Amino acid sequence: MSSDTIFGRIIRREIPATIVHEDEHCIVIQDIHPQAPVHLLVIPKEPIPRISQAQPEHQALLGHLLRVAQQVAQAHHLTEGYRLVINDGLQGGQTVYHLHLHILGGRDMAWPPG
Ligand code: C5P
Repeated sequence: MSSDTIFGRIIRREIPATIVHEDEHCIVIQDIHPQAPVHLLVIPKEPIPRISQAQPEHQALLGHLLRVAQQVAQAHHLTEGYRLVINDGLQGGQTVYHLHLHILGGRDMAWPPG
């Protein structure tokens, strides 16, 4: 499975996206098909295909993605709470094989997820 996906092309500015945050290690974009009033994707610049394929050397990067998610959620005033999701593989419902963290907020979330 190629690690060059649509997200790699967004990071390289080859295709447009609404980028709400960028730093040395990641970007945050608005999801093109939002599933909640706020639906953002935290995407590392390093194209790790899946969370299940992350390696010990990615530990700091993975922590950084969570910190950025926390800060971006705060910046979007998700004071009543929000959900962070990582889909992995076929059964996890992953469609883009470049690791990303969904931030979903602005409505009540159901449990269990579908
Ligand atoms: O976790 P999963 O791989 O299914 O999520 C991929 C997400 O990327 C979807 O929510 C989809 O709407 C989003 N996407 C996007 N912009 C693209 C292609 C996909 O926001 N150009």
